[in-house]
Amino acid sequence: MSEKLSFVHPTANSPWGTYLQQVDRVIPYLGDLARWAETLKRPKRALIVDVPIEMDDGRIAHFEGYRVQHNMSRGPGKGGVRFHPDVTLEEVMALSAWMTVKTAAVNLPYGGAKGGIRVDPKKLSQKELEKITRRYTSEIGIIIGPHTDIPAPDVNTNGQIMAWMMDTYSMNVGGTATGVVTGKPLHLGGSLGRVKATGRGVFVTGREAARRLGLDLRGARIAVQGFGNVGSVAAELFVEAGAKVVAVQDHTGTIVNADGLDLSKLIPMSRTPAGAVGYEGGDKIPNEQFWDVPCDILIPAALEGQITAERARRTSARLVLEGANGPTVPEADDILAERGVLVVPDVICNAGGVTVSYFEWVQDFSSFFWDEDEINVRLDRIMMNALHQIWDTADRHKITLRTATYAVACERILMARQERGLYP
Ligand code: GLU
Repeated sequence: MSEKLSFVHPTANSPWGTYLQQVDRVIPYLGDLARWAETLKRPKRALIVDVPIEMDDGRIAHFEGYRVQHNMSRGPGKGGVRFHPDVTLEEVMALSAWMTVKTAAVNLPYGGAKGGIRVDPKKLSQKELEKITRRYTSEIGIIIGPHTDIPAPDVNTNGQIMAWMMDTYSMNVGGTATGVVTGKPLHLGGSLGRVKATGRGVFVTGREAARRLGLDLRGARIAVQGFGNVGSVAAELFVEAGAKVVAVQDHTGTIVNADGLDLSKLIPMSRTPAGAVGYEGGDKIPNEQFWDVPCDILIPAALEGQITAERARRTSARLVLEGANGPTVPEADDILAERGVLVVPDVICNAGGVTVSYFEWVQDFSSFFWDEDEINVRLDRIMMNALHQIWDTADRHKITLRTATYAVACERILMARQERGLYP
C-alpha cells in the first residue's frame, strides 16, 4: 500500500474522518441497502478552482476555491459557500456530505454539495470581496445551476454575496436565474424567514428535546459558542421562551454572566468590530473556560471539531444542540452518550436553513411568494415531523439521535441510488 492517501481517505480527527466514522456507525442498520454504502464514502464530484483577482493596491492575488457535489441521488446538489482562511478540500468534502444527510433527513428533494474559498474575508475590501465572489462563481459555473447544484450562504457569506453570485451566473447564461442560489436579498427572489431559519430550527428541535428530557426552559442556562446568524438567533428564541444565556463565545473571546447576558445589548455589540467582548454586562474569561461554565444547554454554533473528548467530559450540559456542522468528534459523541447527555445532531438540528432555502427555490420557480407565517409554520412542521421519525428510530434500535438520523437519511439516499441503478 502506498503511504500516500487517496483523497477519499481522511487525516486523523479531520471533518471528513469524523463523517466517515458516522457513516460506519449506521451501516449495521441499513439492511440490504448496506451494499450501496460505499457511495456515501465518496464525493460524486469535486472541483478545485484558482480564483485570481486584482487587489486594490494593484497586486494580483490567487485564492483556492472548491465546490464539492457529494451526492445527487435524490435531486440537485444543495449547500452553502464558506469563506474562511482554513477552508480545505477535505473540509468541504465533509460539509458537502453532511448536506446530503441533512437534506435527506428532512426529506427535501436535494442531494448534498458545498463550496468554499480559502480566504479571510475580513482582510478584503468590499470591492475585492465582490471580485473574488464573481470570479469564483464564474469558475464553478460549469457545475452549478438551478437544476444541478444550488449554493447558499454559510460561514462568512451572506445575502449580498448571494446577489453577486446570482448576477454573475445570470450574466454568463444570458438571463436572470434567481433559482441558482438561495439566501438572496428579499427583493431579488429571497424568502422571508431565511435569515433566521437556521437559528429557528435549532430552537424548535431544542425545545422538543428539552420537553422529552423534562428540562424546563424557564430558567434554563444556555451557553452558546459562535454568535453569528445561527447562535444569536437561537439564543434570542430561547430567551423568549424563558431561558437565560449565561455564556457566549465568539471570535473575539468569551463573556459570561450567571444571571444572564442582556441580548438586546450583546447582539448589536457582537456585530461591531469589538465583538461579544465589547459588551460590558458580563465578565471576560479565557476561551478554554467556556466549556466549564455551569449550564443546562450547550449550543456549539461555530466550526467543526469543537467538542473534543476532553471537553465532552467537562461540560455540565444535559442537552447539546448542534447549530454548527460537525462540532462533535466521534469519541466525544460516545462520552456524551455514556454521561447521559442528549445530543441533537447537526444534520437535523441546523436543517432549518436549508429547509427555508428549499422554500425560496420553490417560490422562485413559481414566482409566487409566501408570507412569513406560512414559512415558519411549514418550517416548524417539517422539522418536527423529521425529529419525531428520528426519535422513533432511535428508540426502536436503542441508538443515539445521530445514528438514528443517519439511518433515516441514508435509507432514503441509498434507496434512491438502488432504484436509479448504476449507469451504464
Ligand atoms: N449553509 C447552510 C447549512 O450548512 C445552509 C445551506 C443551504 O441553505 O443550502 O445547512
